Amino acid sequence: MAAVLIIAEHDGRQLGDATARCVRCAQAIEGASIDIAVFGHGIGPIAAQAAQLSGVNRVLGFDAAANAQALAAVLAPQVAALAGDYSHVLAASTTTGKDLLPRVAALLDQPMISDVMAVESPTRFRRPIYAGNAVLTVEVASAKPVLATVRIASWEAAVAGGNATIDARAVSGVDAPHTRYVGLAASGGDRPDLQSARRVVSGGRALGSAEKFQLVYQLADVIGAAVGASRAAVDAGYAPNDLQVGQTGKIIAPELYFALGISGAIQHMTGIKDARTIVAINKDADAPIFEAADLGLVADLFEAVPQLAAALQSRART
Ligand SMILES: Cc1cc2nc3c(=O)[nH]c(=O)nc-3n(C[C@H](O)[C@H](O)[C@H](O)COP(=O)(O)OP(=O)(O)OC[C@H]3O[C@@H](n4cnc5c(N)ncnc54)[C@H](O)[C@@H]3O)c2cc1C
Repeated sequence: MAAVLIIAEHDGRQLGDATARCVRCAQAIEGASIDIAVFGHGIGPIAAQAAQLSGVNRVLGFDAAANAQALAAVLAPQVAALAGDYSHVLAASTTTGKDLLPRVAALLDQPMISDVMAVESPTRFRRPIYAGNAVLTVEVASAKPVLATVRIASWEAAVAGGNATIDARAVSGVDAPHTRYVGLAASGGDRPDLQSARRVVSGGRALGSAEKFQLVYQLADVIGAAVGASRAAVDAGYAPNDLQVGQTGKIIAPELYFALGISGAIQHMTGIKDARTIVAINKDADAPIFEAADLGLVADLFEAVPQLAAALQSRART
C-alpha cells in the first residue's frame, strides 16, 4: 500500500487550492493512504481545512514560531525527517514547492520528479517537457520515498467532505542560521492568486504602458479575477514579473481566461493549455490567439474592454 505525504501550501490563513489538487494526484496512486503535513505558526484553522479534504486520512501539524514563514531551508530538514515513513512525498509545483522539494531530495540523496501531470503506477509518472510540447513517461527505479512536485494545472481540486484526524506534532531543533526571513512583498493585494484563480485577465504588449495596463486590473476587478501578463508586457515594465503567464512564467488552468492584446505566441499558450474557456480580444483577425480561443473579438481593446467592463458591472448590479 502506498503511504503518501503531501506538504500543505498556505498563506498563514487559508489552505491553498494547490494542496487540494495534490490530494487528487495522490488519489491516483493505487491504494494511497494520504497524510497532509502543515508547517506554520497558529495553523489550527489551516489544519482544519486540510482535514476536510475528501480522501485525506490524517493531518500532521507542525506548529512553531520557526515555521511561521515557509523557508525551504527551515522546512526541508523537517520534511526529510518525516519522509522515511512514506512511499511518496508530494508538493505542489509552485514557487514554494519548487523551492522546498529539491532541498528535501538533496538531504535524502534521492532523485526527484518534477511536474507530475499523470500517474500511471506508483512508480511511473508522466510529465511535460519542451514547454509542454512533448510528454515524458518517467519510471522511478528504486527511490524511497518517491519525491515529486505536482503540476497543479493538470489536476482538479479534491472536494470537501472529509473528516481526517489532526495530529499535533512536536517541533524541535529547527535551525537554519544561514537563512533568515527579511520580509514579504506581495503585489496581488486582495486579488485571487494567479496560479489557482478560476478567472484570469491577462494583458499583452498592446497595452502600451503601466498606466494603460490598469485597464486589465479594471476588468479583472469586475469579474473577481486574478491578473496575468505576457512576457512582452512584463519585459516592457507594464506588469510585474510574477504576473507572467507561459513557458517561463506561470502555468495556469483557470475556468475563464481573457487575453487582451496578446498575439498567442507558443510560449504564452504553453501557460494556458489547460484553461477551460479562452476569450481573446485582438485587433488583428489573423493573430494566432484566435486559433485557440473559444470566443474571439476582433477589436481595439481600448474601446472594447471599457465597454465590456461596464456591461458586466451593470449586469452584476441587476
Ligand atoms: C525561451 C522563450 C520563453 C518565452 N516565455 C514566454 C512566456 O512565459 N510568456 C509569454 O507570454 N511569452 C514568452 N515568450 C515570448 C513570446 O515568444 C512572445 O514574444 C510574447 O508572448 C509576445 O507577447 P504579446 O503577445 O504581448 O506581444 P505581441 O506578440 O507583440 O502581440 C501583441 C498583440 O496585440 C495586438 N494589438 C495591438 N494593439 C492592439 C489593440 N489596440 N487592441 C487589441 N489588440 C491589439 C496585436 O495585434 C498583437 O497580436 C518567450 C520567448 C522565448 C524565446
